[in-house]
Amino acid sequence: MTETAPAITGTKPPRISFEFFPPKSPDMADQLWQTVHALQPLAPDFVSVTYGAGGTTREPTLDTVRRLIAETPMATAAHLTCVGATRDEVRAVVDEFKAVGVRHFVALRGDPQGGVGTRYEPHPGGFENAAALVRGLRDMGDFEVSVSAYPEKHPESADAGADIDMLKRKVDAGATRALTQFFFDNDIFERYLEQVRAAGITIPIVPGIMPIQNLTQLKRFAGMCGASVPEAFDLRFQSTEANPEARASVAADIAAEQIADLSQRGIEEFHIYTMNRAPLTLATLSRLGLYGARDLSGAAA
Ligand code: FAD
Repeated sequence: MTETAPAITGTKPPRISFEFFPPKSPDMADQLWQTVHALQPLAPDFVSVTYGAGGTTREPTLDTVRRLIAETPMATAAHLTCVGATRDEVRAVVDEFKAVGVRHFVALRGDPQGGVGTRYEPHPGGFENAAALVRGLRDMGDFEVSVSAYPEKHPESADAGADIDMLKRKVDAGATRALTQFFFDNDIFERYLEQVRAAGITIPIVPGIMPIQNLTQLKRFAGMCGASVPEAFDLRFQSTEANPEARASVAADIAAEQIADLSQRGIEEFHIYTMNRAPLTLATLSRLGLYGARDLSGAAA
């Protein structure tokens, strides 16, 4: 294991947020809460909990958010999608989140109901897109509203310009922060950020960092999301198949290198896709000197 951390160079420690998803079984719930307790000492800026498109995880997301707010000191954001729901249905969900103490939403359109790659049809009585949802949320309360951003463009976008136009519409509707889809090439992110700023968008664009739990699964997922995975990763993970600890070590190196490089480019906030697992996130942050050195056993899927 290489503990030669690519140091964070800024004068201030970076701001970190963690993303979780609602558990689908008691075992997954145990894993989530172990992860939450392991990551809590890092004092994240906030944590967020995803929400299934079409409301498929309404109760589990609500339960997870409720418990995070009641049992931890961490500011907790609820993701919210508007696909397949009327405006009133979405507002009812917002009221439920509000009642458990949510003040920050990550507002998303959600994938088409027919699945990724099928045509998106707005619900006739619903918010037609993420920008309309942001406006609806702002009309309902003094919420902080984060949105998505796509450095390699969303697969449905005709081109990068259309993608940035949609981000602008979300910002004009009241979004205060964008969290990006994961990416691995920081040059792509930097060029994207330049285009976003040139479009007059000034909100923080927070890179989404995905520590690689499993390269094969990641490539499949990235293909659906329109995110590219550098070929060089094949070489880096080569001969780690039979050695989960070596695999986790490579994954933590890659994520730490990416954060350190972005930090050198002036980025101060990072959103980490934890996949409800703590070891790899902790190993990544320990390489950056942001947390005590960690044992990597059990970090790889
Ligand atoms: P938007 O920002 O509205 O659109 C994304 C892009 O697609 C736009 O740039 C626009 O140009 C293009 N586009 C949108 N609609 C059309 C159209 N009709 N025709 C042509 N182009 C179009 N999904 C979940 O289900 N639950 C979650 O909790 C969740 N969390 C996420 C968190 C982050 C940080 C990110 C990056 C994504 C998340 N997603 C989640 C995935 C997201 O729901 C999908 O990517 C979805 O397909 C788009 O939703 P959006 O809000 O990003 O869309």
